[in-house]
Amino acid sequence: MPIVTTRSVVLQTYPYSDTSKILRLLTLDHGPQSVMARGALRPRSRLSGVLEPFADGTATFYFKPDRDLHTLSDFELTRERQALGRDLQRYAAASVLCELVLRLAPAERDLSLYGVLVGGLDALLEAPPGTVPGTALAACWSLVDVLGFGPDLSGCASCGDDLSERNGRLDVREGTLFCERCLPGGGVLPPPELDHLRRLAEGDPTGPGPSARQVRLLVEFIRHHAAEGVHLRSLDFLLAEEIP
Ligand SMILES: [Zn+2]
Repeated sequence: MPIVTTRSVVLQTYPYSDTSKILRLLTLDHGPQSVMARGALRPRSRLSGVLEPFADGTATFYFKPDRDLHTLSDFELTRERQALGRDLQRYAAASVLCELVLRLAPAERDLSLYGVLVGGLDALLEAPPGTVPGTALAACWSLVDVLGFGPDLSGCASCGDDLSERNGRLDVREGTLFCERCLPGGGVLPPPELDHLRRLAEGDPTGPGPSARQVRLLVEFIRHHAAEGVHLRSLDFLLAEEIP
């Protein structure tokens, strides 16, 4: 039974019995893993209060190759991020990041994904109050991109127009843009809004505070394109948080 020690982010936790906890982790070296933290809910446990969502640290566990649940023996905290839970916008976005990783992370080691997740959580934790909405959307788009679901925003997928002067529309299901002429209908993005979407999708949180429309576009995109009909509860949080 090999012992594994690897950097890990806590994505989700739930109690198991009165004293133990099950953790869903994204590990740096072995992709997503589930571990049982025996006794972690006992008040005197050294892991009490440590194993909370959004935290990262170095996990040591007994790895059973043919099993889905391994046994945690230690977790050395690098950064706890419990402050994310005190602000609904930050919490909502951090939850979207973790839920997307839970649903869509590849089974094997993915350094880029790990880096984007930790970078996104840190950015959400450190963002000055006025910049939280932009930071939230940029972090979510970056994660969608590293998971391989990013939209192609280069120009109209039909006629090739770069949409710098013409209104565009995002086809959420296809993950591509069309100009108004090639795909008529409502929900057009004027060039400044498309420019803003492109910046957010590249992970750039600067620029004007995102409109409610930018939030809806992200949520719709994740719902139809990345989550494939699976209901992500955290998306409801993101929508419920009023972004002016
Ligand atoms: Zn076109």
